[in-house]
Amino acid sequence: MSTTPQLSERTSKPRKARGKVVLHATGSGAAQGFRLRPLQVTWEMTRVCRWKAAFTRSKKDATREVNHLSTAEAFHLIQDVSAMHVPLLALTGGDPLTRPDLFPIIEFAASRSVRTSLTLQPTPNLEASIIAELKACGLIRAGFWLHGSTPALNDSYWEISGLYRRTLDIIGACHEVQLPVQVNTIMSRRNLRDLDSMIELLTQLDVALWNVVFFVPADRDETAVTLSADQHEEVFAKLYAASKHVHFQVKTTEGQHYQRYLLRQREVIPFLPKGVNDGKGLAFINHRGEVSPSRYLPLSGGDVTRQSLSEVYRDSSLFVSLRDSSRLKGKCGRCPIRGVCGGSRARAYAMTGDLFASDPCCAVRA
Ligand code: SF4
Repeated sequence: MSTTPQLSERTSKPRKARGKVVLHATGSGAAQGFRLRPLQVTWEMTRVCRWKAAFTRSKKDATREVNHLSTAEAFHLIQDVSAMHVPLLALTGGDPLTRPDLFPIIEFAASRSVRTSLTLQPTPNLEASIIAELKACGLIRAGFWLHGSTPALNDSYWEISGLYRRTLDIIGACHEVQLPVQVNTIMSRRNLRDLDSMIELLTQLDVALWNVVFFVPADRDETAVTLSADQHEEVFAKLYAASKHVHFQVKTTEGQHYQRYLLRQREVIPFLPKGVNDGKGLAFINHRGEVSPSRYLPLSGGDVTRQSLSEVYRDSSLFVSLRDSSRLKGKCGRCPIRGVCGGSRARAYAMTGDLFASDPCCAVRA
C-alpha cells in the first residue's frame, strides 16, 4: 500500500457553510511543496473546434491541428495520473466532442479512480443526451466559458452570436441530470465592470464552481486589456465579498496574489493557505503531449509521448526550478509570503520575458 499522502479537493476548502473559496491544498502534500504530484493536471485533448479561432487562446496559434495523443497514449497518461494520485484531471480542448474516443477515455479514467472534469464547447453537436451520457461515464463536472453576464458582452468576446443563450441552455441540461457545473471566466479590462452582474448570473445559474482566470497576455498587443495591479485588488475585494454569501466555490487561476489578499482577512482564514502555482501543484499537457507548468506558460518540461508525466513533473529542470521560491526576483523574491504566493509565473514571463521576475500586476510596493 502506498504511504504517499493523499490530496483531495476536500482538503482545499475553507470551513465555511457557503461561498467557499478554493484556496488550494492544505494537507501534507502541500507541505511538500507539491514535489511528488500536482493538485490538478489539465489535458488539452484536442485543438480541433468547428467554431471560430476565437476559441483558442491566441489567434496566432489558432491552427486547426488534428495531431493529438492517440487513445493508447491517452490511456497511458491516465494510468500515470492514477499512479500519482492526482486529485483531478481536467479535460479541455478545442472541442473534446470531436474526439471519437471521448467517452472511453472518461470511462477508463473512472475505472482507474481518476476524477475528471470536462470543459465543453456548446456547439449544436452538444445535445442534452450527450451530457447525460458523459455523466453516466463517470464525469464529475462539466465546464463552460462565460466571459460576460449578457449576450452582447459574452458573444462579442467570442465573435459568435447566440453562444451565450446556447451555453445557458446546456447548463440547464447539466442540471437536469445533476451534473455539477463549472464556469470559467477570463477576467480582463473588457469585463471588469461586469463583475457584480456576473456574480448575480452565476448565482441564478446555480453553478458549483467559478474559475476566475486572471488574464495573461500572449503578446504585447494584449497588454492593453490586462488588469493593472490596482484593478486586481478591486477584483479580489469583490471575490472575497461575494464568497461570503454565494453558494458556489470561487477558484482563481493566475491570480496567486489573491492569497495575500486572503491572508489579510485573518478572521475568516482558519489556516495558512499553501499556494498552488505554475509547475507547483499544476501541470498542463497540450494536444501534442508537451507538458507545461500551466496553460498560460508556454514552456515545456518534457513530452508524455516519450516520458512519463511523473518524470517530467518531478524531475524536469523547469518544474523543479518553479518549485524553488528562492529563484524569485525583485519584490516577489523579497516578499515574506513568496512561498505561499510567488506571483503568476505565467504573467511574469509573458510581460518581462523572465520566468522568475516579479509579477508585474501585484500591488505590493517594491
Ligand atoms: S510581491 Fe510577489 S509573492 Fe508577494 S504578494 Fe506580490 S505577487 Fe505575491
